Order: sequence, then structure tokens, then C-alpha cells
Amino acid sequence: MSLTPVLFPDLIQALIDTIEAHADEVTELDQAIGDGDHVFNLQRGLQALREHAAEIAQLDWPAAWQKIGMTVMAAVGGASGSLYATLFISLGKNSHDKTQDLAGFAEAFQLAVEAVKQRGKADVGEKTMLDVLVPVAQALRQDVEASKPLAQLLDHLCGVAEIGVEATRDMLATKGRASFLGERSKGHIDAGAKTAQLMVAAIAGVLKKSQ
Ligand code: ADP
Ligand code: MG
Repeated sequence: MSLTPVLFPDLIQALIDTIEAHADEVTELDQAIGDGDHVFNLQRGLQALREHAAEIAQLDWPAAWQKIGMTVMAAVGGASGSLYATLFISLGKNSHDKTQDLAGFAEAFQLAVEAVKQRGKADVGEKTMLDVLVPVAQALRQDVEASKPLAQLLDHLCGVAEIGVEATRDMLATKGRASFLGERSKGHIDAGAKTAQLMVAAIAGVLKKSQ
């Protein structure tokens, strides 16, 4: 399967819809251990991307990722803005093929998640979006190498993302605002992990339908 940025407007709309549908739930999570602005930050980024969606859909992948990253960087404050901008800009740098296939994407995505780790000086187990992004990147790479059929691969990634979110509940936050709470950060799912999982599920839904 060759992914193209042509699907980009549909993907952005699906992300906007899922964040909107879960806005109250995620805001409650971010209020419990953060400052409550996570949904707002994501919505600003996604709306900026929607404004540029038609233009981005015309680009090849390296240029599209670069544009997506710069758009997010300009639109969003907060930790999540710069971390997602890093993810996308790094995806652009690591996408050598203009018509990225799934294997190329899987490799670029894993490198991009590494760049996010470095940017935020964080890793899995610290109660952040990385608890979803890292296992999803690993599972994607493994499934592509095993030539798993796309529908099965997408279901698998959704399951891995759900396990990742749930795992953040009992973690102690050591990065980001939640770390200020120390032991009191335990018992709540991380908002950034939850939205990462929601976005994985929404992207999987669009890709399945487009098959
Ligand atoms: P802010 O924390 O600046 O208010 P957001 O509320 O938009 O920004 O995003 C918070 C989310 O960002 C957290 O729930 C967490 O998942 C993620 N996050 C915070 N710091 C880091 C970090 N150093 N590395 C990875 N993710 C992080
Ligand atoms: Mg916040």
C-alpha cells in the first residue's frame, strides 16, 4: 500500500472529530495532573492543519511532513505543540521516498519518535504520550516486517495504543507539568497519552475505510 497526502484532509477531519468527541474526558485528565489546556492546544494545531489541508494534500511526503510540522510549531504552545512539531519535522527528514510506502513510513516514524524522546528528554514509563507512541512505532515496524495484512496491522496498533494509555495510570510522572505532583500524579491516565491513542484509532479508521 502506498500512502499519499491525498488522504490528509480526511485524516485531519477525523482527528478533529475524535478530539472534539473526547474533549471533556481529556480535559478532566489534564486538569487532574496538568493545567487543563491540552485539548485546546491540540485543537489549535488541528485547526491550523485543516486550514492548510488542501495545500498539504498536493505535496509529496517529505514536503508535506515538513509543512505539517512547521504549521503545528507556529500554531501551538505547550509541551505537546513542540513535541508533535518535532515528530512531523523529523518524519519529513526521514522520509526519503516521495511516495512513501508503509515500510518507509514505519522506519521514518520510529526515527521521529526517537527525536521526540530526545526533544523532551523522556522515555517510556514516564507517563507521557511516549507511552503510546513508542510501542505503536515498534509494533508498526514489526508488523510491516512480518507483512501483516493492513486491516490486521491497524487493529493491532489500536490495541497496543490502548494498552499504552492504560499503563500510564499507575505511573509516576517524571516529565512535564504532572511531574510537579510527584506521587499524586499516580492514579490518573496521562492526557497526552490518551489523545495520542485517540489519534491512532482515528487514523486507523480512515485508512481502513480507504482500502
Ligand atoms: P503543557 O504540558 O505545556 O501544558 P499540553 O497540556 O498540551 O502541554 O501537553 C501535555 C502532555 O504533553 C502531557 O500529558 C504529556 O503526554 C506530554 N508531555 C509533557 N512533557 C513531555 C515530555 N518531556 N516528553 C513527552 N511528552 C511530554
Ligand atoms: Mg497542559
